[in-house]
Amino acid sequence: MRFEDLGLIENLLKSVKELGFEKPTYIQERTIPVVLDKKDVFATAQTGTGKTAAFGLPILHRLKKHQPNVHRALVLAPTKELALQISEDVHTYAKYTDLKIAMIVGGKDLEAQRRELKRGADIIVATPSKILEHIQNGLDLKDIDFFVLDEADRMLDMGFVKDIRKLNEYFSKKHQTLLFSATISDKIRKLSKLLLRRPIFIETAKKNTTVKNVSQIAYKVDEEKKAEATAYLIGSRNFEQVLVFTRTKKSADALVEVLREYGLKAEVIHGDIQRSTRLRRIKEFKAGKFQVLVATDIASRGLDIAELPCVINYELPAAPSDYIHRVGRTGRAGREGEAISLLDIYERYDIRQIEKIIEEKIPQEILEDFEPDPTRKREEREAVKLKSEYKNQYQKRRPKKKQPAKTKKRKTTKRG
Ligand code: ADP
Ligand code: MG
Repeated sequence: MRFEDLGLIENLLKSVKELGFEKPTYIQERTIPVVLDKKDVFATAQTGTGKTAAFGLPILHRLKKHQPNVHRALVLAPTKELALQISEDVHTYAKYTDLKIAMIVGGKDLEAQRRELKRGADIIVATPSKILEHIQNGLDLKDIDFFVLDEADRMLDMGFVKDIRKLNEYFSKKHQTLLFSATISDKIRKLSKLLLRRPIFIETAKKNTTVKNVSQIAYKVDEEKKAEATAYLIGSRNFEQVLVFTRTKKSADALVEVLREYGLKAEVIHGDIQRSTRLRRIKEFKAGKFQVLVATDIASRGLDIAELPCVINYELPAAPSDYIHRVGRTGRAGREGEAISLLDIYERYDIRQIEKIIEEKIPQEILEDFEPDPTRKREEREAVKLKSEYKNQYQKRRPKKKQPAKTKKRKTTKRG
């Protein structure tokens, strides 16, 4: 299938062509006709599948021409960074139309944003709490024709469900709702029942799988050698750009220091760094101004940073599902990618949890000159006994369904 076959207006096909999109991705091929057909959508799709154009193009097509004084589409995203990404992308698609896009997010002056809205915004891209604030200050959304929830699962995780319900009540007129989520849970199903009318279900790939064209490998490296090993890997493999994930802010800061000592151009983003600085660093990284970006999960989730050749998991994430999100940064939109994980003695067990979710085995190898200390066997036995700390963390976060204790090991962990 080609973009031309989807019946989109010429002015959109032109910008798509300029972006170098040769053919629609699967989610685009499925979603675009449904939106054009005025139906609600409930789509499961991971990051990197091309969601933004999947909802952006048909909405732009249907909005056609700028109309002053009305807002006709609202796109919600969980974070400011994602909202920025979406509005930039939609802006590019809209290049040959006169449609206007505005962004409503935290950290901007309320008055200035209001003026921006007054100048005209056919499409508003926003975070849930911010848009409500504007509504309470008189923003009128009664003309909304399109309501999009991007990464709805994350918005629920972040506690935005009340905001979303409230928002939905402000749309007086009949409108079309498009809901996108990487994962499906009872919460999502409930929300979808509330928001969607006879939706068309669109499912891309299998749930919880990593991106197909990413090769995954793990190296056994002791904790204290990891920073050096990371510098070595980046240096010796000649990766043009690398995204390195750490589990904590502290290790992110420490790692950046070491990488710089090795002469690598590296920057860091995490929750303690000002948003404006984070956004600037991401922008510069995208522009190729430095080689290594070190990031925590929170700071980077959902961001389309670039088509990266390589992602390094300096530490495994706290939640196994974050592994999928991390690895989703590479091999995007059909390109080849590589995901390297460095495993200390405990993480060699933790990774089994991830392997279960992705239903794939990640080979574990030794990196020359960074061989793990063999005298740590005793610790290793200890590690098995304790099982993985994060696994328990993860289970605690789940709804309190009664779960029979499956193994003796789990009982031990609970006490210890
Ligand atoms: P998602 O929201 O699903 O994570 P995005 O919409 O951010 O995905 O798209 C991921 C990347 O793929 C972006 O860099 C985007 O420009 C690119 N992309 C989107 N659609 C296509 C396409 N049809 N062909 C090639 N690249 C595409
Ligand atoms: Mg997206």
